[in-house]
Amino acid sequence: MKKTHFETDAVRTQSARTQHKEHSTPLYLTSGFVFDDSEEMRASFAEEKQRDLYSRYSNPNTSEFIDKICKMEGAEEGYAFASGMAAIYSTFAALLSAGDHIISARSVFGATHSLFTKYFPKWQIETSYFKVNELETITDLIQPNTKIIYAETPTNPGVDVLDIEVLSRIAKKHGLLLIIDNCFATPYLQQPIKFGADLVIHSATKLIDGQGRVLGGVTVGTKDLMREIYLFSRLTGPSLSPFNAWVLSKSLETLAVRAERQCENALRLATFLEGHPKVNWVKYPFLKSHPQYEIARKQMKLGGVVVTFEVQGGVAAGQQFFDNIQLCSLSANLGDSRTIVTHPASTTHAKLEEEDKRAVGITDGLVRCSLGLEHVEDIIADIQQALQTL
Ligand SMILES: *Cc1c(COP(=O)(O)O)cnc(C)c1O
Repeated sequence: MKKTHFETDAVRTQSARTQHKEHSTPLYLTSGFVFDDSEEMRASFAEEKQRDLYSRYSNPNTSEFIDKICKMEGAEEGYAFASGMAAIYSTFAALLSAGDHIISARSVFGATHSLFTKYFPKWQIETSYFKVNELETITDLIQPNTKIIYAETPTNPGVDVLDIEVLSRIAKKHGLLLIIDNCFATPYLQQPIKFGADLVIHSATKLIDGQGRVLGGVTVGTKDLMREIYLFSRLTGPSLSPFNAWVLSKSLETLAVRAERQCENALRLATFLEGHPKVNWVKYPFLKSHPQYEIARKQMKLGGVVVTFEVQGGVAAGQQFFDNIQLCSLSANLGDSRTIVTHPASTTHAKLEEEDKRAVGITDGLVRCSLGLEHVEDIIADIQQALQTL
């Protein structure tokens, strides 16, 4: 059969099925697996035979989830983690040694930034940062001990877009690995490996689950790199639970249709906000006014589910806006079927120093809106009435 499409792979990839021939993949809640005889057990542990041994290593449900993500991302292999942060931490920990150096975009997820600044230095792993709109400065940051270039695109919460092709050209020229956190785009909108990334990481908690139920993470990439990550992870135990893997594999079946509608809603809201008198500016990758619009069009299928904008009037106006929201949820999650508004300055990014906040473009009036699946007119009406109170 010829190569099938994203939507077909999402629905039809079924790695696990018992003798009962269930149509829907069952849940394999088992910590271990049994062997017919001592020779089978020996051969399995020696990896001469490919099969499930113990759920910290692999499980039919996690394997199905990983197989789907690998197909979607065009990756050779992967490993599934209990959360996005477990995926990020384990990927770095597996690949780096004391004395190594990372070059990272300045705008990365808050917890990732804390890993770089608070914990990695304990193991003599240092990080240098570049601004998302100054990729040409990366070459100056390269040291003899640099191992990895790391970035997210689009970024959180600024929805800046980084050119993955440019990043990969720099990485390849200097023998570095390029790792992309593809959480904001999902594999449906963007496949970084196509543009030269070596590894792709997801927090599956966000749009992959898409209904705000479970935490999960995944790293996919080349066979050799994934082997290192697998060996480290099966030993240290950050593995995804079979139950969460089962939920997430089901979620992937609807990712394409959810993402289509949520991105459409996001573009509608962004377009509405662009002319609004109470809004200083609005950023969305598929708005022509976005500074990296051309790059977004090149590497993304749609603009994503997050719209960022600044309300007029600073902190007080920001709080008033949030207190008047009626339909949307005030929450820190994103990619949910429910529209969520977040105030990064007082929540997710509150711990950042003033200077760091400015460096990643977080202002007091900045609102991050993750569009859900409610009717777009109801979402816009809610945001409109909250803006009118300002
Ligand atoms: C949420 C998020 C993470 C962390 O994922 P968890 O599943 O919450 O651990 C990492 N990167 C990005 C871009 C995120 O949005």
